[in-house]
Amino acid sequence: MSRTRFHERFVAPANDQALRAAVPQDTEPVFMARLVLKFGGTSVADIDRIRNVARHVKREVDAGHDVAVVVSAMAGRTNELVGWCREASPIHDAREYDAVVASGEQVTAGILAITLQGMGVNARSWQGWQIAIKTDGAHGAARIQEIDASDIIRRFEDNQVAVIAGFQGIAPDNRIATLGRGGSDTSAVAVAAALGADRCDIYTDVDGVYTTDPRIEPKARRMARISFEEMLEMASLGAKVLQVRSVELAMVHKVRTFVRSSFDDPDAPGMGDFDNPPGTLICDEDEIVEQQVVTGIAYARDEAQISLRRVADQPGVAAAIFGPLAEAGVNVDMIVQNISESGASTDMTFTVPAGDLGKATAVLDRAKAEMRYDTIQSEQGLTKVSVIGVGMRSHTGVAATAFKALADRGVNIRAITTSEIKISILIDGDYTELAVRALHSVYGLDKG
Ligand code: ADP
Ligand code: ASP
Ligand code: MG
Repeated sequence: MSRTRFHERFVAPANDQALRAAVPQDTEPVFMARLVLKFGGTSVADIDRIRNVARHVKREVDAGHDVAVVVSAMAGRTNELVGWCREASPIHDAREYDAVVASGEQVTAGILAITLQGMGVNARSWQGWQIAIKTDGAHGAARIQEIDASDIIRRFEDNQVAVIAGFQGIAPDNRIATLGRGGSDTSAVAVAAALGADRCDIYTDVDGVYTTDPRIEPKARRMARISFEEMLEMASLGAKVLQVRSVELAMVHKVRTFVRSSFDDPDAPGMGDFDNPPGTLICDEDEIVEQQVVTGIAYARDEAQISLRRVADQPGVAAAIFGPLAEAGVNVDMIVQNISESGASTDMTFTVPAGDLGKATAVLDRAKAEMRYDTIQSEQGLTKVSVIGVGMRSHTGVAATAFKALADRGVNIRAITTSEIKISILIDGDYTELAVRALHSVYGLDKG
């Protein structure tokens, strides 16, 4: 049993290899693999769609594969449940929040198992605690630490499909924990790692990962492959097609992960292709033959900017400001500090998610004396647009191209941060579509 640097422990039965090799001798040789299929909210939005999902599952079962399925709550359900918690009490116990919001996935898992059984497929539902998917104690944003997949693997011998409720696990306090919004992706990849699955297919409402969100830019192109690193940046900079943590797990545990559409006809030619299913493969950089300088554009709305004016220009001031914010769980992102003209004071500007603005200003107000600033200004309704590509490591002028494209369209730049493979630019939210499309076009990502 090995521990990774993420400290997860995924357990398979000792005789797993023997179980895998159990191909019947007297039949045609078939290629039996182990697959995890994940279906997101829109894919399971109603009973008709769940029936369609069941046909995808049945196709893989009929092909002789061992199949585990991970499901999300029906579209809109988690938002509704979150809303109920807030309505009951704006400030609430995170353990009870988890008990409420985890219920959406439980419903879908049961309904899909019933639907599969109705089609003659042996299936049963699993909640996180039954497997068990063990998490840490960070209710509402828990991380998976350990999965014991042995029971599920043993049941593959009876051709039983495991239908697993995504987004949830069991915390050390023996209470249900959820993995943060979009967390079913992470459940799926973690289960795939625990099962030693040959592939993890993330079925969603788009047929792969695009050069930018196809809802904003119809000219976006689907990528056949994208590297783990680029996908990590895309996801953490706002492309919600995959939860960030799921990409980290896929990278560390070498899970072969595809993003594909659940709306395709389950029985269309090529849908069951083992090596090249339709969709986007998330893979190592060296598996990508034609590397572009810029791979994609991501955006995150609802950013807020806070400026502290006339902050004392002395050692320790930044620590005095950002320490208490971190302790309060405020997620600070872009930080810009000007060079002080007078030598006595300077301005400090940074961004936080708009939802954290109230908490952040309360912390800043409380600690004004130690933080040594004069006034606070804040603004909401901002968007961070980001240009991503591993090719930036070896190319110059990528940032200048972005700045010019935005300037030509009269988009004002409020803050900039860069790393080796990305440039992020803060702009007014009203210009989101314009900026995304301008950047998408200027790097030649438009199709046709
Ligand atoms: P699910 O409910 O299946 O988990 P999500 O809504 O979480 O689906 O993620 C799919 C959505 O992600 C798409 O509908 C699309 O609008 C959005 N998206 C954002 N950026 C991208 C991108 N670069 N490629 C594909 N989809 C993207
Ligand atoms: N249902 C959860 C959410 O809406 C988890 C997921 O769909 O991945 O965030
Ligand atoms: Mg999602």
